Amino acid sequence: MTDATSARADGAKIVTRFAPSPTGYLHIGGGRTALFNWLFARGHGGTFLLRIEDTDRERSTPEATAAILRGLTWLGLDWDGEVVSQFERRDRHAEVAREMLARGSAYRCYSTPEEIEAFREAARAEGRSTLFQSPWRDADPATWPDGPYAIRMKAPREGETLVQDVVQGTVKFRNDQLDDMVVLRSDGTPTYMLAVVVDDHDMGVTHVIRGDDHLTNAARQQMVYDAMGWPVPVWAHIPLIHGPDGKKLSKRHGAVGVEEYQRMGYPAAGMRNYLTRLGWAHGDAEFFTSEQAKEWFDLEGIGRSPARLDFKKLENICGQHIAATPDAALLQELEAYLASVGQPALDEQQRDRLSRGMYALKDRAKTFPELIEKAHFALVSRPIVPDTAAAGALDTVSRGILKSLTPRLRNASWTKGDLEAILSEEASAHGLSFGKMAAPLRAALAGRTVTPSVYDMMLVIGRDETIGRLEDASA
Ligand code: GLU
Repeated sequence: MTDATSARADGAKIVTRFAPSPTGYLHIGGGRTALFNWLFARGHGGTFLLRIEDTDRERSTPEATAAILRGLTWLGLDWDGEVVSQFERRDRHAEVAREMLARGSAYRCYSTPEEIEAFREAARAEGRSTLFQSPWRDADPATWPDGPYAIRMKAPREGETLVQDVVQGTVKFRNDQLDDMVVLRSDGTPTYMLAVVVDDHDMGVTHVIRGDDHLTNAARQQMVYDAMGWPVPVWAHIPLIHGPDGKKLSKRHGAVGVEEYQRMGYPAAGMRNYLTRLGWAHGDAEFFTSEQAKEWFDLEGIGRSPARLDFKKLENICGQHIAATPDAALLQELEAYLASVGQPALDEQQRDRLSRGMYALKDRAKTFPELIEKAHFALVSRPIVPDTAAAGALDTVSRGILKSLTPRLRNASWTKGDLEAILSEEASAHGLSFGKMAAPLRAALAGRTVTPSVYDMMLVIGRDETIGRLEDASA
C-alpha cells in the first residue's frame, strides 16, 4: 500500500461506507461504488458501513431505501452493523454547526432569500461572480437582529484548496470560487454538505470512495474537517460509468438499475466480477471470483477515464460464472431467480431432474432464462407439446423410427455408453446418420429442436419417462 491509500495518519483500521440517497432504485453506478467500498474494506480486514442519506425529506422514500437494500443484498454486498439514517442524526449535525460557530469558523447569516437573490441579480448585471457574499460574515454581534439565522462556513476567499485524491491526483480549487456554504439553515435543519462530513467523521470512515461527481463537494467538505480539526479521509473519486457510445449512462442505453439485471437473470457473482472490472483492472484478469477480487482490489487500479458498459462482456463473464458454480449452489440461485421474477417454484421432480442434469445445462448459459430454456425438457411433463419446428421433425417416417426404438430401450442399462450403442445401431438399421435420428428424438423428448444432448436428456429424465415420451410422440 502506498502512502496515498494507507489509512489516516493514525494507521487506523480501514472503514469505508456506501451512502446512497434513497430517491429511486440502486443504479448500477451506485452498485459499483458500493462494490468498490466493500471489496476495499473486506480485502483489508476493514469495516464496510451503510448510511442512507435521507436528509432530503421530500425526495427520500422508504420504498427507495428498501429497493437499495434489496439491490445490495442481491449483489452479495453485506454491510457491518446497523444501517445509519442520516436524518436521525440531525441533532448531532446541528450541534457541530453550533460548535463551528463558537470556534469562529462559521457565522450567523441573517440574509433572507430575497436579499440573496437581489445580491445575485446585481452581480449578474455587473458581470461579477454570483457567489453570495454575506454582509454578516464579519458583522459586529451588537448588530445581530432578533430573528432566525442560517449558519455559514467562513470559507477562505483567497488561495486554493487542494484535494489529494488517490484516483484524480491533486485537484486544485480556487477558493474565490467556493462560497460560504450554509451548514445549518435558518429553520434549524442541517445541510447535506455538513451532514456527510459529520457522519463520516463520527462513523470513523477512513476512505471515501464515491463517484467523481462529488469531487467539488470534497473541496467544500474539507473546510468542515479543517474547521473542526478532524482528519480528512483518503479520497477516491471514481469516474462515472458511460454507455457503450461513451456518453453518460442513461436509460437510453438499456438497463441501469441493479434489480433490472437481477430480473434479466444475470448471476450475482458474474455481476460482481463485471462491475469490479468496470473501471478497475488487475493486470489482464477478466474472470475472477469475489475472493480473488477482495485480495487484489486496490485504489491504484482504478482508472481515471470513464469505463464503458459492454453488454457482450457482461454476458461472457456471467456465462463463465454459471459454468463455474457448483451444481447445488446453482440450483439454489436458479430457484431464487424464479422467485424474484414471480415464477412458480420448482416441484420435487423438477428439482430432482435439474440437480441431476445441471452438469449438462450450465455450460454455455449466460443467464438464468437461458439455463431455463435449456432445461425445458426437464421442467415439462407429459404429454410434451412440440413447438412448430419440433412438430415438423415428427413426420410419419420419424414416428415409425421412434416406435421401433422403444422396445430396445426397455432393456438398456441406461448408461451413456449403452444408449449410444443402441441409438447408432438403430440409426444404421434405418440407413440414417445419427444426426437425422436426433431431430425426432429432440422433438419427442423436449418438444424443441435445440436441446442438450439426447443422451443427457435421457439420462436426466430416466427410462420410464423417456419411453413414455417416445410413445406419446409416435402414437
Ligand atoms: N448521497 C450521495 C449520493 O447518493 C453520496 C454522497 C457521498 O458518497 O459522499 O450521490
